[in-house]
Amino acid sequence: MSTTTDSPRNAPLPLLVLGQGTDLRTERGVECPGDLPAPSDPDLVARARAAKEALGDKVFVLGHHYQRDEVIEFADVTGDSFKLAKDAAARPDAPYIVFCGVHFMAESADILTSDSQTVVLPDLAAGCSMADMAAIAQVEDAWEDLVAAGVAERTVPVTYMNSSAAIKAFTGRHGGTICTSSNAKTALTWALDQAGDGGKVLFLPDQHLGRNTYVRDLGGALEDCVVWDPHRPNGGLTPEELESATMLLWRGHCSVHGRFTLEAVEQARREIPDVKVIVHPECRHEVVEVADEVGSTEKIIKTIAAAPAGTKWVVGTELNLVKRLAAQFPEQSIAFLEKNVCYCSTMNRIDLPHLVWALESLVEGRVVNPIRVDDEVARYARVALDQMLALPGETHKD
Ligand code: SF4
Repeated sequence: MSTTTDSPRNAPLPLLVLGQGTDLRTERGVECPGDLPAPSDPDLVARARAAKEALGDKVFVLGHHYQRDEVIEFADVTGDSFKLAKDAAARPDAPYIVFCGVHFMAESADILTSDSQTVVLPDLAAGCSMADMAAIAQVEDAWEDLVAAGVAERTVPVTYMNSSAAIKAFTGRHGGTICTSSNAKTALTWALDQAGDGGKVLFLPDQHLGRNTYVRDLGGALEDCVVWDPHRPNGGLTPEELESATMLLWRGHCSVHGRFTLEAVEQARREIPDVKVIVHPECRHEVVEVADEVGSTEKIIKTIAAAPAGTKWVVGTELNLVKRLAAQFPEQSIAFLEKNVCYCSTMNRIDLPHLVWALESLVEGRVVNPIRVDDEVARYARVALDQMLALPGETHKD
């Protein structure tokens, strides 16, 4: 597991077997290199305020919708990952971007901002389990298999924003595009058109977003979708299955949205008369199929904001956002779809002590946890991101 080699086929997997060995790369941030303030420090809010004030326009704090309230309070802007990366790029005067989100988001911000700006992730352990389900070595292996099977030249990769910079770069190198949960339909339509008759899309890393977009938004058949399992030879597919499929869905999912169930939807409908179910497209297909509304976090916020008083909702997305919506719209009834779902644990790694530590360090002239994407990786990732921006009619409105 711990051996390293240039060959992707033999490259180490991203996860260690429990109790065996260490991998500082995957365990990044487990040990904080500085003195974190104690969570019980009663002055934390005042310290964050003072540090932010001292830094003034030199710092721009981004807060993803799934962040804790204690962190969102100090965000200059909030939004989904792509909106935040674009917000950061629109502030070239701010030398420091403190990204309260997860690792792949900070990477995207680094790619889209200028070289003179530094992106800081307050806790390096804030990763994303979905992004980690597609390691670059595994994806390179899969591509080799597609080449060997004679289908790579008619396969276009479409990669969800929730992926590492290395996977985005792979997408750029192979003529594909990035997508978000807002524009997946446009991106997939473009990619299928590029692939041509008998062509295929390799959708990374979220199988649910790929399947939901193809079947629900484009009217494709479920039978055209197969799951590529990176842990099995040839993705676990027979040559016939591979040949007949249109959508090659990487076997990845969001550990939060993947837990909402059809039973929870049915229970909500039984218990709350006239309830409307709104879910994120990272949810499983059977959940999305029975929901009243499906959309990105930005769409969920806008839909609820526009609903008349008295509307009853159950919402299938991350709990921090749902709680915030319930507080913001008390004239509506807003409930969480699943009793047993926890918060996104990696998003929650960013807490007030880490934010204070990052900001106070900047005040002292020390940059902690900078996120820097390798130049070559950034160049090709940018190609895939630019392709997304060039999609027909592309406007990332929400
Ligand atoms: S909510 Fe899901 S996709 Fe978003 S950061 Fe958490 S694990 Fe990743």
